[in-house]
Amino acid sequence: MGRRKKIVQECEELMDQPEQIRNIAIAAHVDHGKTTLTDNLLAGAGMIADADEATQLVMDTEEDEQERGITIDAANVSMTHEYEGENHLINLIDTPGHVDFGGDVTRAMRAVDGALVVVDAVEGAMPQTETVVRQALREGVKPALFINKVDRLISELQEGPEEMQERLQAVIGDVNELIRGMTEEMDDIDEDWTVSVEEGTVGFGSALYKWGVSLPSMQRTGMSFADIIELEQNHERQELHERTPLSDVVLDMVAEHFPNPLKAQPFRVPRIWRGDDDSDVAESMRTVDRDGDIVFMATDIGMDPHAGEIATGRVFSGTLEKGQELYVSGTVGKNRVQSVGIYMGGEREELDRGVPAGNVAAVTGLKDAIAGSTVSDKEMTPFESIEHISEPVITKS
Ligand code: GDP
Repeated sequence: MGRRKKIVQECEELMDQPEQIRNIAIAAHVDHGKTTLTDNLLAGAGMIADADEATQLVMDTEEDEQERGITIDAANVSMTHEYEGENHLINLIDTPGHVDFGGDVTRAMRAVDGALVVVDAVEGAMPQTETVVRQALREGVKPALFINKVDRLISELQEGPEEMQERLQAVIGDVNELIRGMTEEMDDIDEDWTVSVEEGTVGFGSALYKWGVSLPSMQRTGMSFADIIELEQNHERQELHERTPLSDVVLDMVAEHFPNPLKAQPFRVPRIWRGDDDSDVAESMRTVDRDGDIVFMATDIGMDPHAGEIATGRVFSGTLEKGQELYVSGTVGKNRVQSVGIYMGGEREELDRGVPAGNVAAVTGLKDAIAGSTVSDKEMTPFESIEHISEPVITKS
């Protein structure tokens, strides 16, 4: 069996196990390294050969696939990751990196349960960092932090361990101030959502040189802060990457700390949907019921030269299948689902089966859907309209 087919089969198995699914977004101020980090994750998960070849998907040696010249659309990607002996399906939804796309960022947040906030260690938290943290929290999405470009602190700024730790602590402090400020007002969040090195919800490293660390990873690999500084100072980055690969650190963090749909949906649904709490559809969204009413929220509409419009989004309830006739909020009549699929790496893969609740699906045939539409088999209250948050853009020269 080709490698690609094997991964598809793995994903199909995991789709039916919501406890193994993590739906996540990576959010950052522009240029803080979101794209570079995403490429690392895909390469680490075996979805592309190497981060340097992000545009060249070489998952399979089968000739037809190579001839098709598959390229990665970094917008939506799914990957599998083994953590503590269990495989996980990680669906990553892209968020635009510029403040002008505030609405799109929020839409993406609605489809996910965890947000990895990337902050450049040199620049620190910036206006867009604040915006994305706010958007995540408003949607009930749990944050974790990755401090990127730590190589620059060591090699360019020549900072010693103390200076570095101070700087990293300052970034963590800034992000936590935001989280604390917002979650204190949210009475439905009873857990502490601030990020912490000790808890393992903070990672740091270099997406460019593909290394990363967290407290749990340092305990596992036995690497100390001093080892890292020494290797980076000597530009032994390949060794750093091999001893403590960034993708492992980040994907472990995702599997360990972000909630699965079974945990997230009961909490998130009342936040993003104001329909009748006692209705069957509410119950079926809360319980992630694959046999319940169909509810899909489109986060993004893309175009495929062959398949036409592709609606990407989250299945909150029921199972989305080819041939279903579905309502699209705000429009009259029904649309017929032409195909359902998932993303594999950045490629859409049509499936012969349905996509159950808790997953991210790529659907064709929903010609009336726009980003933000609620799609359902019964007429229902649509999801809350998305509030656009825009902060003033401060450009650094
Ligand atoms: P995005 O706008 O957040 O997607 O950022 P990119 O991933 O495109 O990165 C912006 C720039 O920062 C690019 O020139 C990257 O090569 C560079 N960059 C990303 N990560 C790192 C890092 O860890 N260290 C250094 N030194 N540069 C990085």
